[in-house]
Amino acid sequence: MGFNDIMNGYDSKLFDTLAQSSDRIFFFASNMKENTVRWSKGAVEYFGLEREILYPADSEWLKRIHPDDKAACRKAFEDMANHVSANYDADCQVCNADGEYVWVNCKGYMTYDDEGQMDFFAGFVINLGVRNKIDPVTGLRTIREFHKDTDRLLRDNKSGAAVVVELNNFQRINDEFGYSYGDKILHTIARKLLEISAQGTRIYRKDDSDFIFLMEDGTVETVAEEIEKIRQIFSALNTGNNSIYLDFRAGAVLFPQDGNCFDQIMSNMLVALENARSAGMTSLSLYSEEMYLKKTRVLRLRDAICESVNDNFQGFSIVMQPIIDSRTGKGTSCETLLRWSDERFPGIGPMEFIPILEDTAFIIPVGQWIIDQVLRNLKDWDARGDNPIEKIHVNVSYIQLQDDGLVDYTVGKLKEYGIEPERLVLELTESCRIGRIDELTERLQKFKDQGIGIALDDFGTGYASLAVLKDIPTDIVKLDHTMIKSVVGTDKERKLIEFIISFCNNVGIIVCAEGVENTTIMGIVNKAGAELLQGYYFDKPLLVEDFYNKYVKLEHV
Ligand code: C2E
Ligand code: CA
Ligand code: CA
Repeated sequence: MGFNDIMNGYDSKLFDTLAQSSDRIFFFASNMKENTVRWSKGAVEYFGLEREILYPADSEWLKRIHPDDKAACRKAFEDMANHVSANYDADCQVCNADGEYVWVNCKGYMTYDDEGQMDFFAGFVINLGVRNKIDPVTGLRTIREFHKDTDRLLRDNKSGAAVVVELNNFQRINDEFGYSYGDKILHTIARKLLEISAQGTRIYRKDDSDFIFLMEDGTVETVAEEIEKIRQIFSALNTGNNSIYLDFRAGAVLFPQDGNCFDQIMSNMLVALENARSAGMTSLSLYSEEMYLKKTRVLRLRDAICESVNDNFQGFSIVMQPIIDSRTGKGTSCETLLRWSDERFPGIGPMEFIPILEDTAFIIPVGQWIIDQVLRNLKDWDARGDNPIEKIHVNVSYIQLQDDGLVDYTVGKLKEYGIEPERLVLELTESCRIGRIDELTERLQKFKDQGIGIALDDFGTGYASLAVLKDIPTDIVKLDHTMIKSVVGTDKERKLIEFIISFCNNVGIIVCAEGVENTTIMGIVNKAGAELLQGYYFDKPLLVEDFYNKYVKLEHV
């Protein structure tokens, strides 16, 4: 069969014109009766086809389609042939000349002869994954393109905004409905985002379920408008059978003022996102210098704390605050509180460095160091004469309890210093309530089995409710100072605290009222039946030596 014969029936000129080399769109035309196909030159090159005109028509193409997609492609063709659908439209992965699978979208149109037989089939293939420019799942531009486009705007001395949008709970959709469904949702979202985006805005897929908006001439106001539109999309996302509610957070940076090169824009945008995340915000956070300083402070703190831990806990110390027995008015126990000092961070307190110790898991070795210090002091006081301090409290956070070695370590230290386990009380800080209650109970029981006491700290804040008392094997409940302060507020607030105290007393749990700052508060909690009292009214946390002089030594002179 000669070339001209084959060309017979093709509108050769039209085909040639359409087939002008494009690295994104390829054309084909097939003579169904002859069972031949002609591909545009670009397709021959890109997919590594044997030549422009092929016979039989489909074999070269079919063998390049990914096995997972073959059935769907065949069905799309049959539906068209059986007039179920007017034309051919299928997405599939096709192997290119480099041996890589790329996502393509094929569209084709069939003409029929007078007898209704298939005559010509022509159409085009759009390369969705061309040279990593387009993300195959969403059809959005890729992060590489974001890099290029940002560079271009900066080069042209343009100003604008870059915004990253992160979906909060997308993983849940993948888990519940599977990844291919998740991909479909992302595709739908991308389409909608493209529809609403303002002129001059380009949208990119970052990774997973994150999107980036590059807004030429973007300002604080236009970013806020864009975010509002996005919120509307997410709040009313309806995909087929399921109505899905998706939350998002966004971080934005304005350039060139807050970023005059791509790396800076990218990193500041992520700092803003991180800020939205840690503030628990469900909306937009705009990058500021302050955020940057905060972030770098955290990084510098991490380094400094790491140095301290490795330098034999240099800079760490403990202080002790007396806990008063309300019946006798005497300090018979105390709470140990951690301090850390470093000249680079003057005045830093536990509210700032404890979260960093927890994040880095340094709280595990530091916590062990505290237990060692506390028990060593207790032994020392015992050795110096009659020691009125019956119990010492030590704070323990979630991460520490996750460490299987803590029970053995503590028991070993109690033995080493010859201290009865009943004299040690572990205070579970609020962080201990993030995990599963049954797992927490099981871990605590191991300490209880050894005779070590358990106190539930920060009661009255966060999620702590009376219900946890029935599960957690607790000896002491510490009513948080924010709650205690409210006793001087309304009648209702006072009654609530009285109720909690009497409930605990009834089930054999000792109540310690924290934050007792004055006689009024003391009078109320005392009357309500709190057995233990702690607060600035009695004393602030004291250096160990001061605590010894005031509460240990003087007792028996
Ligand atoms: P917390 O365990 O609730 O400790 C009580 C906090 O209340 C201490 O703050 C104490 O100084 C303060 N306080 C005591 N009396 C009063 C009062 O009358 N009024 C007011 N407003 N506050 C009072 P601090 O030492 O800054 O500790 C803060 C938090 O840091 C602690 O809260 C605890 O959650 C954590 N923390 C401290 N030391 C350690 C530790 O060694 N390990 C762990 N895991 N966490 C610790
Ligand atoms: Ca505590
Ligand atoms: Ca507390």
